[in-house]
Parts: sequence; structure tokens; C-alpha cells
Amino acid sequence: MLKKIFVSGIVQGVGFRPFVYNIAKKNNLKGYVKNKGNFVEIVVNGNLKDINNFLINLKEEKPVLSKINKLEIEDIDTNNDLDNDLNNKLDGLEELNKEFHIYSSQNVNNEVAGTIPPDIALCDDCIKELKDKKDIRYEYPFIACVNCGPRFTVIKKLPYDRENTSMDKFPLCENCEKEYKNPNDRRFHAQANCCDKCGPKVFLTDSNGNKLLEKESAIKKAVELLEDGKILAIKGIGGTHLVCDANNDDAILELRKRLNRPTQAFAIMSTEEKYPLFSKFTKIEEEALNSYRRPIVALKKKENGYNKYISENISNLDTVGVMLPYSGLHYLLFGKCTAYVMTSANLPGLPMAITNDKIIESLKDIADYFLLHNRDIVNRCDDSVLKLISNRMMILRRSRGYAPEPIEIDFSKMAEFENKNKYKNKDENENENKEIINELNNKKIEKNIISVGAELNSVACLTKGNKFYMTQYIGNTSKYETYNYLKDAVHNILRLTNTNKLDTIVCDLHPQFNSKKFANELTKEYDAPMFEIQHHAAHVYSLMGDNGFFEPNITIALDGLGYGKDGNIWGGELLYCDKNYEIHRIGHLEEQLQLGGDLSTKYPLRMLFSILSKKMSLDESFEFVKKYIGKYPELTEKELKLIKMQIKSGLNTAITTSTGRVLDSVAALLSVCFKKTYDGEPSIRLEAFANSCDEKEKKQILEFVENMDNIRYSRLIDYENNIIKTSEIVYDCYTLLQNEVFSKKGIAYYAHLVLANCLCIISENSAKKLNINTLGLTGGVSYNRIITEYMVIKLKNKGFNILLHNNVPNGDGGIAFGQSVGYILKNEIN
Ligand SMILES: [Zn+2]
Ligand SMILES: [Zn+2]
Repeated sequence: MLKKIFVSGIVQGVGFRPFVYNIAKKNNLKGYVKNKGNFVEIVVNGNLKDINNFLINLKEEKPVLSKINKLEIEDIDTNNDLDNDLNNKLDGLEELNKEFHIYSSQNVNNEVAGTIPPDIALCDDCIKELKDKKDIRYEYPFIACVNCGPRFTVIKKLPYDRENTSMDKFPLCENCEKEYKNPNDRRFHAQANCCDKCGPKVFLTDSNGNKLLEKESAIKKAVELLEDGKILAIKGIGGTHLVCDANNDDAILELRKRLNRPTQAFAIMSTEEKYPLFSKFTKIEEEALNSYRRPIVALKKKENGYNKYISENISNLDTVGVMLPYSGLHYLLFGKCTAYVMTSANLPGLPMAITNDKIIESLKDIADYFLLHNRDIVNRCDDSVLKLISNRMMILRRSRGYAPEPIEIDFSKMAEFENKNKYKNKDENENENKEIINELNNKKIEKNIISVGAELNSVACLTKGNKFYMTQYIGNTSKYETYNYLKDAVHNILRLTNTNKLDTIVCDLHPQFNSKKFANELTKEYDAPMFEIQHHAAHVYSLMGDNGFFEPNITIALDGLGYGKDGNIWGGELLYCDKNYEIHRIGHLEEQLQLGGDLSTKYPLRMLFSILSKKMSLDESFEFVKKYIGKYPELTEKELKLIKMQIKSGLNTAITTSTGRVLDSVAALLSVCFKKTYDGEPSIRLEAFANSCDEKEKKQILEFVENMDNIRYSRLIDYENNIIKTSEIVYDCYTLLQNEVFSKKGIAYYAHLVLANCLCIISENSAKKLNINTLGLTGGVSYNRIITEYMVIKLKNKGFNILLHNNVPNGDGGIAFGQSVGYILKNEIN
């Protein structure tokens, strides 16, 4: 009996073909397995019982990293399909009776959906070999096997074969080739297989790029230099890091100075044995940290321990970003040091340098030495970042270990809901419903959509059928280099998915975004129409897609800024998604004046001045903010007078409902932060400051907020228009500070809780009015643990179904995904 089996999903670069070979042998089957670029084709020849066992094995014992999305089986009738026809259909008919073969890949230009796996952290078997003196790969930094190592960052095009990766420069030595060809070996068809003899080599240079040492001695010297307090740029697998001892104050302060990065927390790399010395974690965080994706996880600092092992100059927050080694090279760096600073080697706002020349050229004034190697990084990929909020890992940055693995949406749920709308009596129309579901599914599979995201924390997204391929993290595309990086990343994801046509381009409403310029270029290049989706609507769609939830809901979208439909800056929005997937703005934070546009984002005291002046006279608020003169160099009496004039005249001001700007103004009020040196800094530090409030006072404040009477809340909320009067909230904080009712930390905590509670009140009221049971929370501010956790508990207790993010970033990294989902909901379903 002859059967042909098609398997698609993550079936390349994960040891799938060797696995198929082994289970075919085990079940006495003849035939072949072949990589078809985007899927795997298997032909088996044997008796029915063996074939059935084979199919069970295929599903149940598949390699850990593989994923089967679709499995199709076709019977081949050798009696009827004989001769030429069959010969065309199968490869080597006469061979089918003799052996089971693994055929090399075939380049197929069709658009069947398939997937390249992300980079995978070094596996346990390879770690063992790396440490084993008798092993040929003892201390070899590029050790990898079929279960681990680089994938996405070394691949140039499909199919995933050695000649299509940056391993093509390194012909296999005799021993490696033997492993590569032996189906019983862990390195059978492992494309990144190499050893000290045949593979890439590391070398150490000084800051001018002069080569000092090679191979083991280069690594040993690098470790000595790091232990000695030097700063190194280390080229790893998918990117380059700036590295120094995480417990050496001088080295860290020097790195901060050279990078012009005064306060932003550095991520650190430590080992499995050592990170518990200085951080606290739950089971979920531990699992995330140890997973093959190896992200950075924001862990709480350990009270007794942190300062012993880690310099206080690493992070001024209550958390520290920790990751574990994920390549052989990383493991070899650990000797005496408990942890290393491991920060992406890029100048602020620019993409990380990845070629040796560029690394040296751009970082020669920052790194003292360079530890480089001679394998090219094809696709750069920054480390991913996760944070535990409301008992789940939320993704701050989705990149290495994730990209380009697609997120899948079960569209049938969407169709089912549509049908529920159309037919009240479900049973009667079951067949018809099924038909419509199929129709919808089939229709979408043909459309290719590119969404280009927003501007900050950019990520683009290619959608094919029900698969959403988000690119690696790109960054701030208002910078020219990063804008180019966005273009490269999009063209690359098109290449890696064999995508030759685009049907639709989706972008943000903002008229000045570079991403929009790019969207325009793509519409011309592919002759495809362009759609615009408002920033916060995209957040809502992103949340819905992330949850596979396609029914009416009210979602609270909180962030720093997004271009609103009225031309103002939005960022504190209560949005209602109706059954036709139209988004309605049904409430928001009070509109505030943002003086001097971006200057108000950079200097939060400007926001404070502007907000307070609505509650006090202009002179009174001027007298109050004058007290801050001298607290930071840019604030002079002259400057304050200018701001005062601006408030009076309204010149050069924008209108904003941003949650970020309100929290920023409280950060200035409490002297937590006066100048933003990285995106979101004042609010991020305010959260950490509030968290450090002692538990007794926190409890007191919680009771205070819960027990405030209706009269007080009706001062804070305009119930008729669903507007939260943020001037009143900031003025409350001001009064509490003047009267010293709570500590400064307590006031910071109060600001979070009262804002969260007001949001709960307006969303609950609206839900009742609109008869809605599901409330969502999205946007960058939903990374704020205090606000999110308070709202989730409160609204769950009231009986609401709550939507939070799972696999897509809450912040602007999820916008492109939301743009695609929004386009489909609005145009493909209705
Ligand atoms: Zn391995
Ligand atoms: Zn070798």
C-alpha cells in the first residue's frame, strides 16, 4: 500500500525529516521524505497496520520544536496510476520498494504556508558536550545540533538548507559530514552543524579592530578583560551586545557615560545557578526564563542579596531584566562574575550593528575590546522582553526566540459569531453555517496583507490566511536607519514565506509617520490598495485577535500617544467595538494641553504646570512650580515664564488625552523624574516608586480609594460624557503632598489606584448601558502592574470577562498585528 502525506507547520530546521526517517524505519516502511520549501512530502510504502502506526508516531512523537498545522493524506492507487503518470507524481518509483530515503530539498515557488523556526537556545545535550573535555566540541562556541542553535538569524532564503544560510562559507569536515549524513546522529541534517575544525571562529580585537588573539585564547582573554572591568562588544548569534561585569560600578557608570544612557535599566545575563541569589521569581517566570526562547524577564529584586551581587547602577526600578545564556559562546563567558550587563550594541534609536566592520566603526568609542567571529548575521534579532502581570507573562518586546513564528487565529470563531448574528436558531441552519464558515476560511487564505505598524517600538506583520507573521523588533522608525531596517525586515519576511504578491497594505492614520510613507511605496510596488486604521482601534483589534475573541466588547486602551480621529493626541481611551467591528470612542481622559509638543514629553514638569493651572490661578501654579527651580538644569525662571505665556496664549500647544502624560506629571510633582531619557521613563519610574511604598501604607491607601464617597468620585468623573478629570486627580496629589497626608511613595500609589478605579467605574457604567459583558485592557500603560492588576481584580469580581494580552505585545509592538486583524474584521467578514 502506498500513501502520500503532506505536512505543513514548523517542519524545517527542527529535525523533522530525520525524525520521519526513523519512524519509517521503525515501522518497516519504504519510501521517502522530502522538504518542499514550505512543507514536507512523505511517501510511505508498506502494510496498512504499519502505516497507521507510522501516522500515530508522526503525531505523537514529533520533535519538541516542530509543529504540525496541517496533515493531508492521499492514497496512491498503483494499479490505476501506473507508468508515466505515477512516475511524475513520485520520485524514483523503483526505489520505493527498496529503502526509505531522505531527499534533499526542492525549491518550490508556491505559496503554501510554512514556517522558519526562531533561534533556539542551546540544548542540554550540547551543553553537556560543551563542558566535556573528551568531546570534539569541548568549549567550541558555535556548538549546535538539530534541536538547537540559530535558525532565523542565519537563513537567507527558503528552503532551510545549508547553502541558503550563512553556514555556506563553512564546508563540513569529514567528521561533521559523517554526523550530518547519519540518520541516527543528533546532527543528521543539522544545517548549523560545525566544529572547531570546520566551523566559524572567534577572535579578539582592540578598539581599533587590530586582531589580538583567536579561538579559545581569545575567549579566555575576553573573560579576563571583563573580570578586570573592561567593556566589550561581543558579537553573538543574532546580534551584538555591549558587555561588562554587572557588579562593577566603575565599568557600568563608564558604559552609561559612553552610551549617553544615564538611567535606563540594563538587562543582565546570569546563569541558572546564580540568578536566584539576587532576584525573586515565581514558577511562571522561572519557566519563561528557562524556555528555549530565552527571553529577558523583568524579575523583582531580592531584598537581601541584590546589592551584594549586582550593582545598584544596573536598574533604578524595582525590577531587573535577567536572561540566561543561550549560545555556547555565552556559557564560555562565565567564570568569576555572577552576571554581565548584556545590552544591545546600538547607539540610541539606531538598529544594532551586526557586521564586523560596522560593529567596530560604530562602537570604537564605546567598547574597549571586540570579541567577534567570522559568521555573518543575516537577520538581526534583539532579545525579547517579558514581564509577569496579573499572573501571566506579557510580552514587552517580541523578537529573538519568537520571530518569525506566526501567530494563528481561528477564524471559524469569528465566522461562528457572524452566523450567530444572522441566525437566531443555530440548529436549524447548522449545515448552512458550516458552509459559510468554510467559505470565510477559504476566502481569507488567498489574501496577503502587510501591516506596517506605528512609529515607536515598530514591528511589521505579514498576514497569509490565518497566519500572522510578525517581524522581529524594529524600533523607532522616525530615524532613517531604523526606517530602512523596517523595509528590510518586511522584504525579508516576504522572502522567507515565499510571498510574491500583496493584496492589501495597512497603516496608521498619522499623516507624518515614516511607516505611512513605506505603506505608500508598497501600494505602488504591489499595486495593492491601502487602508488606515486608527492607533487605538488597532490596539483593540490586536487584543481581540490575541484572544480569538470576536464579539462586541469595551476595551480600555492606555498609552503614551496615538493620532486620534479628531487630529488630537489620544492615549486614555474607552472604546466600544460593536458587532460590525466598528470602534466607537465612548469615553476618555480629560483633554490636557501639551505645551511645546514633544518638549512636554521630555520635561514632565511642563505637563504638571499646565494641568495645575486649570485648578489654580496661573500665578498660583507658577509660584508652586517655581519651587522646582534648580532641581534640574533646564528649569530656570525664564523658562517657566515662557511656559506661563504659552499656557495663557495657547500657542504651540497640542491637545492630549494620554495616560502617560498624566502619570508623567505626577512623577514630576513627586520629584521622581524631571527629564525623559528613554521612552516612557517618568511613568515607568513612578510605578517603581509607588511599588516601593510600604505595605501598611499601601493597604491604607487602598481602603481610602475604595471608600471615597460618590460625591468625591463625581468630582473626578464627568459621568455624562464618560470623562475622567485628570486635573482633579493631579490636584488631589498636589493637595495630599501639601498636607503631608501620605508619604510621597504613598501619593504615587494613590495616583495609580484612583486612576485605575475611575477607569473601572466608567467602563462598568458603559458596559451596563450597552449590555456588554467583556472588558479588555491594552496599550503600553497596561504594562503597569499596579493599574492592570487592580483593574483586573476589581472587574473580575464584578463578574466581567476580562481580555488581556497573551502572545502579542500590549504596546505598539502589537499595532501591526492589530492593523491586520482590524482590516480582516472590517473588510473580509462583513
Ligand atoms: Zn543541541
Ligand atoms: Zn567539523
